[in-house]
Amino acid sequence: MNEVETPVLIVGGSLVGLSAAVFLGARGVPCLVVERHRGTAIHPRAALVNQRAMETYRAVGIEQEIEEAAAREFVQNGAIVSVESLGGKELDWYFREINEGVEDLSPCRRLFITQIGLEPVLLSKAQELGARIEYASEAVSLETTGDGVSATIRPRDGGDDWTVQARYAIGADGAHSPTRERLGIGSLGHGSFSDSITIYFRADVRPLLGDRNLSVIYVFHPQLVGFFRFSIDGQAGFLVVNATIDEDGNRSTAIGEDMSEDTCIAYVRTALGAPDLPIQIENVQRWSATADWAERFSDGRILLAGDSAHVMPPTGGFGGNTGIQDAYDLAWKLAAVLDGTAGPGLLDTYDAERRPVGSFATEQAYTRYVLRLDPGLGKENLVPIVDEAAVEIGYRHLSDAVTLEPADDGASWEDPRAPTGRPGMRAPHLAVERDGATVSLLDLYGGGFVVLGGDAWSEPAERAADELGVPLAIHSPGADFRDPSSTFGELYGIGDEGAALVRPDGFVAWRTRRGPQDDGDALARALAAAIAR
Ligand SMILES: Cc1cc2nc3c(=O)[nH]c(=O)nc-3n(C[C@H](O)[C@H](O)[C@H](O)COP(=O)(O)OP(=O)(O)OC[C@H]3O[C@@H](n4cnc5c(N)ncnc54)[C@H](O)[C@@H]3O)c2cc1C
Repeated sequence: MNEVETPVLIVGGSLVGLSAAVFLGARGVPCLVVERHRGTAIHPRAALVNQRAMETYRAVGIEQEIEEAAAREFVQNGAIVSVESLGGKELDWYFREINEGVEDLSPCRRLFITQIGLEPVLLSKAQELGARIEYASEAVSLETTGDGVSATIRPRDGGDDWTVQARYAIGADGAHSPTRERLGIGSLGHGSFSDSITIYFRADVRPLLGDRNLSVIYVFHPQLVGFFRFSIDGQAGFLVVNATIDEDGNRSTAIGEDMSEDTCIAYVRTALGAPDLPIQIENVQRWSATADWAERFSDGRILLAGDSAHVMPPTGGFGGNTGIQDAYDLAWKLAAVLDGTAGPGLLDTYDAERRPVGSFATEQAYTRYVLRLDPGLGKENLVPIVDEAAVEIGYRHLSDAVTLEPADDGASWEDPRAPTGRPGMRAPHLAVERDGATVSLLDLYGGGFVVLGGDAWSEPAERAADELGVPLAIHSPGADFRDPSSTFGELYGIGDEGAALVRPDGFVAWRTRRGPQDDGDALARALAAAIAR
């Protein structure tokens, strides 16, 4: 049997597996991705890519390419509305424009791109950065060996099994994750609560859309509940049907029991409010609306990311985005452990940091599902709704790799419109001037560790870097960037004297308002904690 060696094996090469391959490649870590399908996505699925996910793509240099691919698929910045039917009564406008009110939070914009459009961009970047992607290849076993993992890969189209020896493996193998099952990791949450179908169809909906720029259209019709998305030319789209309602008002979520073409055409016509419109059904997919997260996101050298770690209903568009951010968190930690700068304990912080974020996003998606689509599921066990921006970029990473301030209240999220810059939070965006151009402070992150502070911090920063053998870049306001708003010191909570230590993933590991004469050694201790040494 052929044997291949790689530092990291990624099982599953869809949205999250390919993102992980890009993020690892950008940190100089080659990986092998095995994917059961024969190529990138053939169904649109996820489409709303949020600001934080775009920030991670910006950090690896593919923001613009993704924006261009997105513009080919959708008129961007559309509204999210609810209607009785597309041609009928409008019920509510949740967002007039999807970026309304979040423009100042990030250098990036929320955008709509299908997995069909996004995955090829990820694939080519991953390959350019040294990843090997094997399609039509299924991992049929995966186990931990003494100092690594071993997997057997079966080619789907014939040929012999081959084996992979890797130091670590990422299970990015989706909601029914064989990796999670093999590890015997259970799930917590609300389980599956609705059979749903996605009907991909062709129809000329332009007269029904009119001049409205609509991204997501929830449908609350007396006979069915679901949502639409349409392609840029208004001649194709999909309808998700979450529930049907009979004449007596009885709701059914057993929709998958009848997926015949006639029934699907009837659903689409009902939701369009166009009983005679010619409809061509292209594909129908059955899926289960589920809100669950894994009890553990890792088992030794095997780590779960994406839907294998958390699966949530599409309400909110959080699922794929949360997975992309799992991959971003994991990539810098794996790179640092593999090159020896971090202790292996850093990988334990992956579960500590990402599981609460995964369950937070899942609960938020579930609450939105119940309130928007199926109040009959019961409102007793719902968490209060938190603004989308907080779910997307206001979540917090709390673990041993983050040095909290003594008075910290342990909050797990905050409103990014009033960022505190405290340890565990994403370091806030601020437009600054650098080398004659306006950039975001976020553009300083994404490589190694960064210290933000006045010149006086250079000496303790260099000392900490030397002691630990970790590259540390120092950026001083005034010297390395100009802050026309004069808000930097307060935004980061470090005043004029202090400093902040920002991790490679752009999260604050530590900060102080005091000067280096008082807290110079604390910087070295915080850096050591941030790399589990
Ligand atoms: C209708 C709908 C709309 C959605 N809209 C949004 C949205 O707007 N925004 C958003 O963020 N999310 C959205 N989501 C959720 C999003 O689609 C998922 O969260 C995302 O696709 C998960 O990506 P993944 O890579 O983790 O898993 P998957 O996309 O499920 O990929 C897992 C991959 O692993 C492969 N695999 C499995 N087992 C093996 C094996 N043994 N060997 C090799 N390969 C294997 C599979 O073939 C598959 O390609 C939506 C979901 C639905 C259903």
